[in-house]
Amino acid sequence: MIPKSHNDEHNAPLVIAIDGPAASGKSTIGEAVARRFGFLYFDTGAMYRAVTQAALARHIPVEDEAQVTRLAETLHIDVTPPTVADGRQYTVLVEGEDVTWELRSPAVDDHVSVVSAYPGVRAAMLIQQRRIGLAGRVVMVGRDIGTVVMPEAPLKIYLDASPEERARRRYRELVQKQQDVDYDAVLASMKMRDAIDSGRETAPLRAAADAVTIQTDGMSIEQVVEAVAELARSRLHLDPDRERHPS
Ligand code: C5P
Repeated sequence: MIPKSHNDEHNAPLVIAIDGPAASGKSTIGEAVARRFGFLYFDTGAMYRAVTQAALARHIPVEDEAQVTRLAETLHIDVTPPTVADGRQYTVLVEGEDVTWELRSPAVDDHVSVVSAYPGVRAAMLIQQRRIGLAGRVVMVGRDIGTVVMPEAPLKIYLDASPEERARRRYRELVQKQQDVDYDAVLASMKMRDAIDSGRETAPLRAAADAVTIQTDGMSIEQVVEAVAELARSRLHLDPDRERHPS
């Protein structure tokens, strides 16, 4: 039997939208929930990071809205399941070149919010993101999935945590990757990104009116995954017998 991709009653695509600020756990939770239900995991932030990385690599000033927008409209970005078993969640190809790890550099972190605030950049990304969402059976994570990209999603989650808790998580992650980082710098860069993401005019970071907010301070990853899975079962009418549990 082919698993269904749309909700029976409203014919809405089976999408779990997860939004929230930087390092709120969206990617860890999103990937775990997707694996549990056999859904595709799609991190929309990777696309904005890809445009930013391409602009930096081509020496296009990120302040030049017209040039950056033109780049976003013409750049060929592919997000595929991992092609290398090196801990990545997915592979990102830009014009066929694997840039997956470059997207995580501090330079991209520091410039991505300027790039993603340009309406033309967002319009170009939106087209590709909606195409993936409309196919159904996908967990989409980002900043505006519930509000703009897939407002018809039957389940919208807004993950949140205090800035200090989020900076601690990001700091630990970077230290694990042997990167030379400073906690205060991580906290400052994250707060700056959140301020731009929440304050921009086009598709600001915001919980949708019908989103379920989960405040994750003090919660374990398993507890958050369980909470989202419970909501997914009831809202998307998923069969618990078909779930895959980590071994
Ligand atoms: O989620 P991640 O931290 O990788 O996102 C990087 C940046 O991309 C965010 O800070 C935000 O500026 C932008 N973004 C966005 N809309 C999304 C996903 C990410 O504006 N749906």
